[in-house]
Amino acid sequence: MTATVIDGKAFAAKVRAQVAEGVAALKDADGITPGLAVVLVGEDPASQVYVRSKGKMTKEVGMASFEYKLDVDTSEADLLALIEKLNADPAVHGILVQLPLPDHLDSDLVINSIDPAKDVDGFHISNVGLLGTGQKSMVPCTPLGSLMMLRDHHESLSGLNAVVIGRSNIVGKPMAQLLLGDSCTVTIAHSRTKDLPAVVRQADIVVAAVGRPQMVTGDWIKPGATVIDVGINRIEKTEGGTRLVGDVDYDSCAAVAGAITPVPGGVGPMTIACLLANTLTACCRAHRLPEPEGLTV
Ligand code: NDP
Repeated sequence: MTATVIDGKAFAAKVRAQVAEGVAALKDADGITPGLAVVLVGEDPASQVYVRSKGKMTKEVGMASFEYKLDVDTSEADLLALIEKLNADPAVHGILVQLPLPDHLDSDLVINSIDPAKDVDGFHISNVGLLGTGQKSMVPCTPLGSLMMLRDHHESLSGLNAVVIGRSNIVGKPMAQLLLGDSCTVTIAHSRTKDLPAVVRQADIVVAAVGRPQMVTGDWIKPGATVIDVGINRIEKTEGGTRLVGDVDYDSCAAVAGAITPVPGGVGPMTIACLLANTLTACCRAHRLPEPEGLTV
């Protein structure tokens, strides 16, 4: 079997187009421009790239983009004061603090100081609780994008066995909650799971969010399963230089799976598209306007 490739890049372009339409409609009908504020502390090169591309895409869909670049030694008090200001600013509907933060800053404290209604990353403890109890929340972008692709590919997820490899707060746990919300039977695997390949072989849906290059191989995959590869890892090429790979060994898994997301071009583009979708959703909720269909759970 050769797997269907789930094209996250094309899917993300569709989501961004839908967001752009929603933004244009808000401007025309209500004179409202959704705004996203991104806060970067320090000069981590990967974070700088993410922040730049978030800013660019925010403007491309017609939203207002506010970027705050703070020194690496910014104090917690100054960062919290900025967040308080953004919480109170009616032009800002979404606030994202780029992680990881420098060690002297308490990430939990900082994230939990964001107004939950503007927490477009969905990491605030209130949103975590709302998602866990099946209530309307802001949903973390990477799991949301992964779920959108799964829903698009499967007629229904109900009753399917899903194995999520990884239990982080930003990917693994919310992913498992979303799959449970769609009535999958969910197993969360992690570094202490015994006989991981045997656990994964039970899965109709595998979501790999581990951070280990090409760890999941084709012999772990049940024939016909859907494989969502969240991992982003940079490895050395034999001919020199580096390339991006996922947590899944693409070639061996694609030979067995029914469908698979590539890296790059799978989950990654969906993450940014969902950030924009969440900002539009947050804006609609702030103004008590109807939310666009299909952009959140
Ligand atoms: P974390 O490091 O926070 O979590 C990794 C998880 O994998 C942990 O739960 C860990 O288990 C588990 N794990 C580690 N080694 C093994 C192993 N040998 N067998 C089974 N489980 C293992 O990572 P994140 O969740 O933040 O990210 C995961 C991956 O997704 C990374 O490659 C990251 O770059 C990528 N990512 C991609 C995004 C995108 O937009 N596409 C967005 C966010 C992340 P334990 O808890 O026991 O330590």
